[in-house]
Amino acid sequence: MSIERAMEILRKYPLCDHCLGRLFARLGTGLSNEERGGRAIKDYLLMRIHERILNEGLSDELLNDVRALALSGHEPSIKFLGNMGGINVSPAKCYVCGDAIFNRLDEWASAIANSLRSLGIEFRSFRLGSRVPLDVLNRELSITTEFNISSAESIKRELNRELGKRVSAVLGVPFSREEPDVEAVIDVSTGSVETQVMPIYVSARYRKDHRLVNEETQVRWPIDRVIQAYGGAQDVVIHAGGEDPRGGARVLGNGRPVILQIVRPSKRPDVNDVSLLLKDSSYDITLNNLSRVRASAVVRMKARVRDYVITYRVLAITSNSVTDENIKSLHDYFRNRQVVQVFRRGRRVRKRVSMVYELDGRVVRGGKLVEFLIKCQGNLYIRGGFVHGGFGSVEPSIAGTLGFNVRPVEIDILNISD
Ligand SMILES: [Zn+2]
Repeated sequence: MSIERAMEILRKYPLCDHCLGRLFARLGTGLSNEERGGRAIKDYLLMRIHERILNEGLSDELLNDVRALALSGHEPSIKFLGNMGGINVSPAKCYVCGDAIFNRLDEWASAIANSLRSLGIEFRSFRLGSRVPLDVLNRELSITTEFNISSAESIKRELNRELGKRVSAVLGVPFSREEPDVEAVIDVSTGSVETQVMPIYVSARYRKDHRLVNEETQVRWPIDRVIQAYGGAQDVVIHAGGEDPRGGARVLGNGRPVILQIVRPSKRPDVNDVSLLLKDSSYDITLNNLSRVRASAVVRMKARVRDYVITYRVLAITSNSVTDENIKSLHDYFRNRQVVQVFRRGRRVRKRVSMVYELDGRVVRGGKLVEFLIKCQGNLYIRGGFVHGGFGSVEPSIAGTLGFNVRPVEIDILNISD
């Protein structure tokens, strides 16, 4: 694809400097800006024609080429024709953009800046998008297809970049394609601007040091603190790596991995400052090890749950007396043992295989109160599952192996390695 091809295109379609420059944007003209690129190509084409006129004399072919350049709004070509004997050519509208886009950049940039300002929140980066009428996009596509051009940059890209530069200059905030704090999308046909405040994601470990009677209220405490830290965010959604066993289980050790999604934050403080706000030992739920993460971390965390190794402490009441021999045989049997859990929902049956790595136990009192330590894969259901047997839906289980009922009364997570 050579620049001579540009003359072929202009003979058929008048294109403004932007729309011509974009077709050759990736040819490495050394000109960063399409407008300058398009103008430079037109200058070069006129120079070549001029050279040929000097060598070969004026022909209709060469005159028509200058006319095509003049039609595309190239001032030197218009002047050239005027000087040649009073040929007057007034420029035609650009075939792609209709001259209705690039002359409004400043106007749109200030509309975008105003919309972002009126959010009334703190942001340190922004991203821009634009909606361009379909017929403009179709005309652009028809040219690149007709002339088999692979070096073109899309009009949206140029528009977003040019608007981005201007908005950035007005607000004094950088443009960011990835992970911006806010986003604005302008509809080019109406000039209306839509804005969006991007959520903040913070990973943490949460611990529950006591069995909570009123868990809702307790959980509310760190959430309210986080909302406050982010300047009165709209909400905080907690994404947890795995579920806690119900019934007030404690979560001890290094705690459970969670990611907090802070919805519509007004302030964007450093996570270390947020950590300080969360340091209050009088509450039973604590959030530690805070760090900023990307949105994609949520999916990654959820996918890793099955690779967690969780150590549980379970206190259970049994229907028959448990002996030290029982404990020993459980210990030997459940060393790196696969457990199959069957889940039924309606007519659908799903199976999940999990590992129990280690099991230890101790008879606490009277033979019917037993404490178990279970080290297993993160996706093993403990309470109604592995300990209780889930009425035959978990195989093998502690109850199934002992041959009598085992009912968990207390469950603690002692450690989660992820
Ligand atoms: Zn144009």
